Amino acid sequence: MAVIGAHVDQSDPIAQARERGADAAQIFLGDPQGWKGPEVRYPGGAQALKEAAAEAGITLVVHAPYVLNVATTNNRIRIPSRKLLQKQVDAAAEIGAIGVVVHGGHVLATDDEEVGFDNWRKAVDQLEAAVPIFIENTAGGKKAMARGVAKLTRLWEAVRSADGGDAVGFCLDTCHAYAGGEPLAGLVSRVLEATGRIDLVHANDSRDAFDSGADRHANLGTGSLPADELATLIREAGAPVIVETPGGAAEHAADIAWIRESCD
Ligand SMILES: [Zn+2]
Repeated sequence: MAVIGAHVDQSDPIAQARERGADAAQIFLGDPQGWKGPEVRYPGGAQALKEAAAEAGITLVVHAPYVLNVATTNNRIRIPSRKLLQKQVDAAAEIGAIGVVVHGGHVLATDDEEVGFDNWRKAVDQLEAAVPIFIENTAGGKKAMARGVAKLTRLWEAVRSADGGDAVGFCLDTCHAYAGGEPLAGLVSRVLEATGRIDLVHANDSRDAFDSGADRHANLGTGSLPADELATLIREAGAPVIVETPGGAAEHAADIAWIRESCD
């Protein structure tokens, strides 16, 4: 059975995971909407968190801030994004996380998408990845780098050509895929054709309809995703699973139980 966890507050991810019956915890290291460098709030710091997680058997995942956009043509966003991503990767290594989830980002409506894919290549080229990054597919936008399998194919062609490109992982968010216009049936094999790998699944239901382009997560079995197809996808992906669903410990525990029961 796969490792299953939830996105939780970073102050004590070990206690939060235990409360949810989880064996993994995804956290932000600092403000998800801010540019300030990573910050470990666990008492005792990074080393203490690393040791506590190892002792408790909890897999840690870091989610990079949403403001990061290494694809953009705007220098004042792209350059700080590369620097912040490096800092997130370094901090993730210090706490013993398996990787850093980072959104695919986007270019402006008037931009050529190829410039965005090439900016990804440059970002990977420059990154010293002590732990891998997991690029996550996103739901919205016409010029997003990771909405839909066709874009993933082009993104991975660019990323693979970078120094260190082989280490770049993929995070498949089920809400983003469905709301972004990818049917869940057969999605694992289509993604694998594009990226060659799935390192993490974000198992989220969607409050919005297929191809809506909206990004509003729902608890599993309560949204628009076909439940049987969601369960099949999680099983076929064969990767650690994180729920980023509404509510607190009780709701997350129910979502984790849903995965354990329906994917058994
Ligand atoms: Zn996600």
